[in-house]
Amino acid sequence: MKPWEKNIRRVTPYTPGEQPKDKNIIKLNTNENPYEPSPKVAEKYREIQDLRLYPDPKVEELIHALAVYHGLEDNQVFVGVGSDDVIAMSFLTFFNGELPVCFPDISYSFYDVWADLYKIPYTVKPLDEDFRIRVKDYEEKNGGVIFPNPNAPTGICENLEFVRQMLAENQDVVVIVDEAYIDFGGESALSLLDEYENLLVIRTFSKSRSLAGLRIGYAMGNSALIHALNAVKHSYNSYTMSRPAILLGVASVEDDAYFKETNRKIIETREWFSKELDRLGFTYPKSGANFVFATHKYLPAKEIFEKAKAAGIYVRYFDKPRIDNYLRITIGTKEQMEKLVKFLETLCTSVDGSVM
Ligand SMILES: *Cc1c(COP(=O)(O)O)cnc(C)c1O
Repeated sequence: MKPWEKNIRRVTPYTPGEQPKDKNIIKLNTNENPYEPSPKVAEKYREIQDLRLYPDPKVEELIHALAVYHGLEDNQVFVGVGSDDVIAMSFLTFFNGELPVCFPDISYSFYDVWADLYKIPYTVKPLDEDFRIRVKDYEEKNGGVIFPNPNAPTGICENLEFVRQMLAENQDVVVIVDEAYIDFGGESALSLLDEYENLLVIRTFSKSRSLAGLRIGYAMGNSALIHALNAVKHSYNSYTMSRPAILLGVASVEDDAYFKETNRKIIETREWFSKELDRLGFTYPKSGANFVFATHKYLPAKEIFEKAKAAGIYVRYFDKPRIDNYLRITIGTKEQMEKLVKFLETLCTSVDGSVM
Protein backbone atom coordinates (compact mmCIF):
# COMPACT_ATOMS: atom_id res chain seq x y z
CA MET A 1 0.00 0.00 0.00
CA LYS A 2 1.32 3.46 -0.95
CA PRO A 3 1.55 5.92 1.98
CA TRP A 4 -1.12 8.23 0.51
CA GLU A 5 -3.49 5.29 0.11
CA LYS A 6 -3.70 4.91 3.89
CA ASN A 7 -5.62 8.16 4.19
CA ILE A 8 -8.26 7.39 1.59
CA ARG A 9 -11.77 7.21 3.09
CA ARG A 10 -13.03 3.63 2.76
CA VAL A 11 -16.74 3.23 2.28
CA THR A 12 -19.21 0.66 1.00
CA PRO A 13 -21.54 2.70 -1.19
CA TYR A 14 -25.31 2.38 -1.49
CA THR A 15 -26.46 0.14 -4.35
CA PRO A 16 -29.16 1.87 -6.39
CA GLY A 17 -31.76 -0.15 -8.32
CA GLU A 18 -31.09 -0.81 -11.98
CA GLN A 19 -31.88 1.85 -14.58
CA PRO A 20 -32.20 -0.15 -17.81
CA LYS A 21 -31.87 1.72 -21.13
CA ASP A 22 -34.55 -0.35 -22.89
CA LYS A 23 -37.78 1.68 -22.97
CA ASN A 24 -39.97 -1.42 -23.40
CA ILE A 25 -39.24 -2.75 -19.93
CA ILE A 26 -42.05 -2.60 -17.38
CA LYS A 27 -40.04 -0.82 -14.75
CA LEU A 28 -41.32 -1.48 -11.23
CA ASN A 29 -37.99 -1.60 -9.40
CA THR A 30 -37.17 1.89 -8.11
CA ASN A 31 -40.48 3.36 -6.89
CA GLU A 32 -40.76 5.98 -9.60
CA ASN A 33 -44.20 7.31 -10.46
CA PRO A 34 -45.62 5.91 -13.73
CA TYR A 35 -47.42 9.17 -14.56
CA GLU A 36 -45.85 12.23 -16.18
CA PRO A 37 -45.18 15.24 -13.91
CA SER A 38 -47.84 17.97 -13.97
CA PRO A 39 -48.40 19.45 -17.46
CA LYS A 40 -47.59 22.80 -15.81
CA VAL A 41 -44.04 21.50 -15.30
CA ALA A 42 -43.68 20.76 -19.02
CA GLU A 43 -45.04 24.23 -19.87
CA LYS A 44 -42.51 25.89 -17.57
CA TYR A 45 -39.74 23.70 -18.96
CA ARG A 46 -40.11 25.40 -22.35
CA GLU A 47 -39.69 28.82 -20.72
CA ILE A 48 -36.42 28.07 -18.99
CA GLN A 49 -33.71 30.56 -19.86
CA ASP A 50 -30.83 32.35 -18.23
CA LEU A 51 -28.88 29.16 -17.63
CA ARG A 52 -25.81 31.41 -17.89
CA LEU A 53 -26.59 32.78 -14.47
CA TYR A 54 -26.09 31.16 -11.11
CA PRO A 55 -29.31 30.09 -9.37
CA ASP A 56 -30.59 31.83 -6.25
CA PRO A 57 -28.41 30.34 -3.47
CA LYS A 58 -31.27 30.88 -1.00
CA VAL A 59 -33.81 29.14 -3.27
CA GLU A 60 -36.41 31.59 -1.97
CA GLU A 61 -39.05 30.99 -4.62
CA LEU A 62 -39.28 27.23 -4.10
CA ILE A 63 -38.98 27.49 -0.33
CA HIS A 64 -41.80 30.03 -0.26
CA ALA A 65 -44.04 27.86 -2.45
CA LEU A 66 -43.48 24.88 -0.14
CA ALA A 67 -43.98 26.93 3.03
CA VAL A 68 -47.30 28.29 1.73
CA TYR A 69 -48.35 24.80 0.64
CA HIS A 70 -47.73 23.34 4.10
CA GLY A 71 -48.86 26.34 6.12
CA LEU A 72 -45.37 27.05 7.49
CA GLU A 73 -43.00 30.04 7.62
CA ASP A 74 -40.27 30.23 4.98
CA ASN A 75 -37.64 29.82 7.69
CA GLN A 76 -39.05 26.36 8.52
CA VAL A 77 -38.18 24.86 5.11
CA PHE A 78 -34.85 23.65 3.71
CA VAL A 79 -34.48 22.33 0.14
CA GLY A 80 -31.85 20.10 -1.42
CA VAL A 81 -30.91 17.94 -4.40
CA GLY A 82 -33.33 15.10 -3.72
CA SER A 83 -34.07 13.96 -0.21
CA ASP A 84 -30.83 11.96 -0.36
CA ASP A 85 -28.99 15.27 -0.26
CA VAL A 86 -31.26 16.61 2.49
CA ILE A 87 -30.84 13.49 4.63
CA ALA A 88 -27.06 13.44 4.08
CA MET A 89 -26.90 17.12 5.15
CA SER A 90 -29.06 16.30 8.18
CA PHE A 91 -26.74 13.48 9.26
CA LEU A 92 -23.79 15.86 8.97
CA THR A 93 -25.60 18.66 10.83
CA PHE A 94 -27.51 16.91 13.61
CA PHE A 95 -25.76 13.62 14.29
CA ASN A 96 -22.58 15.14 15.57
CA GLY A 97 -22.45 13.62 19.08
CA GLU A 98 -20.75 10.67 20.71
CA LEU A 99 -23.79 8.46 21.28
CA PRO A 100 -25.01 6.15 18.53
CA VAL A 101 -27.80 7.24 16.20
CA CYS A 102 -30.65 4.70 15.96
CA PHE A 103 -32.59 3.42 12.97
CA PRO A 104 -34.32 0.16 11.98
CA ASP A 105 -32.34 -2.80 10.59
CA ILE A 106 -34.72 -3.11 7.65
CA SER A 107 -35.08 0.39 6.35
CA TYR A 108 -33.74 2.77 3.73
CA SER A 109 -30.35 1.24 3.00
CA PHE A 110 -28.63 4.60 2.62
CA TYR A 111 -28.74 5.48 6.36
CA ASP A 112 -25.84 3.24 7.37
CA VAL A 113 -23.86 4.37 4.31
CA TRP A 114 -24.03 8.04 5.39
CA ALA A 115 -23.30 7.13 9.00
CA ASP A 116 -20.20 5.22 7.86
CA LEU A 117 -19.12 8.00 5.50
CA TYR A 118 -19.35 10.68 8.20
CA LYS A 119 -18.02 8.34 10.91
CA ILE A 120 -21.21 8.69 12.95
CA PRO A 121 -21.69 5.90 15.51
CA TYR A 122 -24.99 4.04 15.00
CA THR A 123 -27.04 1.11 16.26
CA VAL A 124 -29.59 -0.68 14.12
CA LYS A 125 -32.78 -1.81 15.88
CA PRO A 126 -34.35 -4.98 14.49
CA LEU A 127 -37.97 -4.73 13.35
CA ASP A 128 -40.27 -7.21 15.11
CA GLU A 129 -41.40 -10.39 13.34
CA ASP A 130 -44.23 -8.49 11.63
CA PHE A 131 -41.69 -5.95 10.34
CA ARG A 132 -42.92 -3.27 12.76
CA ILE A 133 -40.71 -0.69 14.47
CA ARG A 134 -40.84 -1.04 18.30
CA VAL A 135 -40.76 2.29 20.12
CA LYS A 136 -39.26 0.63 23.20
CA ASP A 137 -36.05 -0.10 21.23
CA TYR A 138 -35.53 3.64 20.95
CA GLU A 139 -35.95 4.50 24.62
CA GLU A 140 -32.32 4.31 25.73
CA LYS A 141 -30.08 7.36 25.44
CA ASN A 142 -28.92 7.86 21.85
CA GLY A 143 -27.44 10.42 19.47
CA GLY A 144 -30.54 10.81 17.31
CA VAL A 145 -33.28 8.82 15.58
CA ILE A 146 -34.24 8.44 11.93
CA PHE A 147 -36.90 6.21 10.38
CA PRO A 148 -38.98 6.32 7.21
CA ASN A 149 -42.75 6.48 7.57
CA PRO A 150 -44.09 4.61 5.64
CA ASN A 151 -41.05 2.38 6.10
CA ALA A 152 -39.14 1.18 3.06
CA PRO A 153 -39.00 -1.48 1.76
CA THR A 154 -41.80 -2.90 3.94
CA GLY A 155 -44.42 -0.26 3.00
CA ILE A 156 -45.82 -0.26 6.55
CA CYS A 157 -47.19 3.10 7.64
CA GLU A 158 -47.39 3.90 11.37
CA ASN A 159 -50.00 6.35 12.65
CA LEU A 160 -49.48 9.74 14.24
CA GLU A 161 -49.74 8.31 17.75
CA PHE A 162 -46.71 6.10 17.03
CA VAL A 163 -44.65 9.09 15.85
CA ARG A 164 -45.76 11.08 18.89
CA GLN A 165 -44.56 8.26 21.21
CA MET A 166 -41.24 8.12 19.41
CA LEU A 167 -40.84 11.87 19.96
CA ALA A 168 -41.97 11.71 23.56
CA GLU A 169 -39.22 9.14 24.24
CA ASN A 170 -36.55 11.13 22.38
CA GLN A 171 -36.79 14.79 23.33
CA ASP A 172 -33.05 15.46 23.74
CA VAL A 173 -31.99 14.55 20.20
CA VAL A 174 -33.10 15.35 16.67
CA VAL A 175 -35.74 12.90 15.42
CA ILE A 176 -36.01 12.67 11.63
CA VAL A 177 -39.10 11.23 9.97
CA ASP A 178 -38.34 10.41 6.34
CA GLU A 179 -41.73 10.85 4.64
CA ALA A 180 -40.70 9.86 1.10
CA TYR A 181 -43.98 7.92 0.68
CA ILE A 182 -46.40 9.78 2.97
CA ASP A 183 -48.50 11.17 0.10
CA PHE A 184 -49.81 7.69 -0.72
CA GLY A 185 -52.33 7.75 2.09
CA GLY A 186 -50.31 8.14 5.31
CA GLU A 187 -50.71 10.52 8.22
CA SER A 188 -47.88 13.08 8.25
CA ALA A 189 -45.90 14.08 11.33
CA LEU A 190 -46.10 17.73 10.21
CA SER A 191 -48.87 18.47 12.70
CA LEU A 192 -46.38 17.69 15.51
CA LEU A 193 -43.92 20.42 14.49
CA ASP A 194 -45.40 22.96 16.92
CA GLU A 195 -45.17 20.53 19.79
CA TYR A 196 -41.66 19.14 19.15
CA GLU A 197 -38.89 21.50 18.15
CA ASN A 198 -36.49 18.56 17.72
CA LEU A 199 -38.61 17.06 14.90
CA LEU A 200 -37.45 17.20 11.28
CA VAL A 201 -39.80 15.94 8.54
CA ILE A 202 -38.19 15.13 5.17
CA ARG A 203 -40.03 14.82 1.85
CA THR A 204 -39.13 14.25 -1.80
CA PHE A 205 -40.47 15.20 -5.24
CA SER A 206 -39.19 11.86 -6.59
CA LYS A 207 -42.13 9.60 -5.81
CA SER A 208 -45.47 11.36 -5.42
CA ARG A 209 -44.56 14.32 -7.67
CA SER A 210 -43.18 12.20 -10.55
CA LEU A 211 -39.93 14.19 -10.58
CA ALA A 212 -37.22 11.68 -9.67
CA GLY A 213 -35.12 13.00 -12.57
CA LEU A 214 -35.20 16.60 -11.37
CA ARG A 215 -33.74 15.89 -7.89
CA ILE A 216 -35.66 17.89 -5.27
CA GLY A 217 -36.10 17.04 -1.61
CA TYR A 218 -36.92 19.19 1.40
CA ALA A 219 -36.94 19.27 5.16
CA MET A 220 -39.42 20.98 7.48
CA GLY A 221 -38.85 21.81 11.10
CA ASN A 222 -38.19 24.44 13.72
CA SER A 223 -36.35 27.49 12.31
CA ALA A 224 -33.31 26.71 14.50
CA LEU A 225 -32.92 23.30 12.82
CA ILE A 226 -33.37 24.83 9.36
CA HIS A 227 -30.83 27.54 10.18
CA ALA A 228 -28.28 24.89 11.21
CA LEU A 229 -28.87 22.93 7.97
CA ASN A 230 -28.32 26.07 5.89
CA ALA A 231 -25.07 26.82 7.70
CA VAL A 232 -23.74 23.36 6.82
CA LYS A 233 -24.99 23.54 3.25
CA HIS A 234 -23.33 26.91 2.66
CA SER A 235 -20.07 25.52 4.04
CA TYR A 236 -20.14 22.91 1.33
CA ASN A 237 -21.81 24.19 -1.87
CA SER A 238 -24.18 27.17 -2.06
CA TYR A 239 -25.48 26.34 -5.53
CA THR A 240 -26.87 22.84 -5.20
CA MET A 241 -30.29 23.59 -6.71
CA SER A 242 -30.17 24.36 -10.44
CA ARG A 243 -32.33 27.10 -11.98
CA PRO A 244 -34.51 24.54 -13.81
CA ALA A 245 -35.05 22.52 -10.62
CA ILE A 246 -36.19 25.61 -8.72
CA LEU A 247 -38.59 26.79 -11.45
CA LEU A 248 -40.06 23.38 -12.26
CA GLY A 249 -40.37 22.50 -8.58
CA VAL A 250 -42.53 25.58 -8.05
CA ALA A 251 -44.71 24.64 -11.05
CA SER A 252 -45.28 21.19 -9.54
CA VAL A 253 -46.26 22.56 -6.11
CA GLU A 254 -48.71 24.96 -7.73
CA ASP A 255 -50.62 22.20 -9.54
CA ASP A 256 -52.22 20.53 -6.56
CA ALA A 257 -55.18 19.08 -8.47
CA TYR A 258 -52.89 17.04 -10.71
CA PHE A 259 -50.80 15.90 -7.74
CA LYS A 260 -53.87 14.67 -5.84
CA GLU A 261 -55.30 12.96 -8.92
CA THR A 262 -52.16 10.94 -9.75
CA ASN A 263 -51.72 9.94 -6.10
CA ARG A 264 -55.34 8.78 -5.99
CA LYS A 265 -54.74 6.63 -9.08
CA ILE A 266 -51.65 5.02 -7.52
CA ILE A 267 -53.54 4.22 -4.31
CA GLU A 268 -56.45 2.73 -6.26
CA THR A 269 -54.10 0.57 -8.36
CA ARG A 270 -52.23 -0.51 -5.23
CA GLU A 271 -55.44 -1.71 -3.59
CA TRP A 272 -56.49 -3.59 -6.74
CA PHE A 273 -53.01 -5.13 -7.15
CA SER A 274 -52.91 -6.20 -3.47
CA LYS A 275 -56.13 -8.19 -3.95
CA GLU A 276 -54.66 -9.85 -7.02
CA LEU A 277 -51.61 -10.81 -4.97
CA ASP A 278 -53.91 -12.47 -2.39
CA ARG A 279 -55.44 -14.55 -5.15
CA LEU A 280 -52.01 -15.60 -6.44
CA GLY A 281 -50.76 -16.88 -3.07
CA PHE A 282 -48.66 -13.91 -2.00
CA THR A 283 -48.65 -12.29 1.43
CA TYR A 284 -47.45 -8.78 2.22
CA PRO A 285 -47.76 -6.19 4.95
CA LYS A 286 -50.55 -3.71 4.15
CA SER A 287 -48.85 -0.99 2.11
CA GLY A 288 -49.13 2.75 2.69
CA ALA A 289 -46.63 3.49 -0.09
CA ASN A 290 -46.37 3.27 -3.89
CA PHE A 291 -45.00 -0.27 -3.72
CA VAL A 292 -45.93 -3.62 -2.17
CA PHE A 293 -43.45 -5.82 -0.33
CA ALA A 294 -44.56 -9.35 -1.13
CA THR A 295 -43.53 -12.95 -0.55
CA HIS A 296 -45.01 -16.07 -2.15
CA LYS A 297 -45.97 -19.19 -0.22
CA TYR A 298 -44.10 -21.55 -2.58
CA LEU A 299 -42.13 -19.66 -5.18
CA PRO A 300 -38.77 -18.23 -4.04
CA ALA A 301 -38.57 -14.46 -4.52
CA LYS A 302 -35.24 -14.68 -6.28
CA GLU A 303 -36.67 -17.02 -8.90
CA ILE A 304 -39.67 -14.74 -9.54
CA PHE A 305 -37.32 -11.76 -9.75
CA GLU A 306 -35.10 -13.44 -12.34
CA LYS A 307 -37.96 -14.81 -14.43
CA ALA A 308 -39.78 -11.47 -14.40
CA LYS A 309 -36.60 -9.74 -15.50
CA ALA A 310 -36.17 -12.17 -18.38
CA ALA A 311 -39.75 -11.32 -19.35
CA GLY A 312 -38.97 -7.57 -19.36
CA ILE A 313 -40.54 -6.74 -15.98
CA TYR A 314 -38.16 -5.27 -13.41
CA VAL A 315 -38.98 -5.44 -9.70
CA ARG A 316 -36.57 -5.05 -6.77
CA TYR A 317 -34.98 -7.96 -4.94
CA PHE A 318 -32.73 -7.47 -1.88
CA ASP A 319 -30.27 -10.25 -1.15
CA LYS A 320 -30.22 -9.42 2.56
CA PRO A 321 -30.95 -11.35 5.76
CA ARG A 322 -34.67 -11.52 6.72
CA ILE A 323 -35.94 -10.07 3.43
CA ASP A 324 -34.32 -12.31 0.85
CA ASN A 325 -37.62 -14.04 0.09
CA TYR A 326 -39.46 -10.77 -0.63
CA LEU A 327 -39.94 -8.61 -3.69
CA ARG A 328 -40.52 -4.89 -3.61
CA ILE A 329 -42.91 -4.16 -6.43
CA THR A 330 -43.51 -0.54 -7.43
CA ILE A 331 -47.08 0.39 -8.37
CA GLY A 332 -47.12 1.34 -12.05
CA THR A 333 -50.12 2.15 -14.22
CA LYS A 334 -53.11 -0.22 -14.13
CA GLU A 335 -52.02 -1.60 -17.53
CA GLN A 336 -48.50 -2.33 -16.31
CA MET A 337 -49.82 -4.06 -13.21
CA GLU A 338 -52.25 -6.14 -15.29
CA LYS A 339 -49.30 -7.37 -17.36
CA LEU A 340 -47.41 -8.25 -14.20
CA VAL A 341 -50.44 -10.12 -12.81
CA LYS A 342 -50.74 -12.10 -16.09
CA PHE A 343 -47.07 -12.99 -15.85
CA LEU A 344 -47.37 -14.06 -12.20
CA GLU A 345 -50.47 -16.12 -12.99
CA THR A 346 -48.58 -18.05 -15.65
CA LEU A 347 -45.64 -18.54 -13.32
CA CYS A 348 -47.79 -19.79 -10.43
CA THR A 349 -49.82 -22.09 -12.68
CA SER A 350 -46.70 -23.70 -14.07
CA VAL A 351 -45.72 -24.71 -10.53
CA ASP A 352 -48.68 -26.83 -9.48
CA GLY A 353 -51.10 -26.65 -12.39
CA SER A 354 -53.53 -24.31 -10.68
CA VAL A 355 -53.56 -20.79 -9.43
CA MET A 356 -52.54 -21.19 -5.80
C1 LIG B 1 -36.57 7.28 -2.49
C2 LIG B 1 -36.23 7.52 -1.07
C3 LIG B 1 -35.40 8.57 -0.69
C4 LIG B 1 -34.61 9.40 -1.66
O1 LIG B 1 -35.32 10.11 -2.54
P1 LIG B 1 -34.66 11.21 -3.48
O2 LIG B 1 -35.43 12.42 -3.14
O3 LIG B 1 -34.91 10.72 -4.86
O4 LIG B 1 -33.21 11.35 -3.16
C5 LIG B 1 -35.21 8.81 0.65
N1 LIG B 1 -35.77 8.02 1.59
C6 LIG B 1 -36.54 6.99 1.26
C7 LIG B 1 -37.13 6.14 2.33
C8 LIG B 1 -36.78 6.69 -0.08
O5 LIG B 1 -37.49 5.63 -0.41
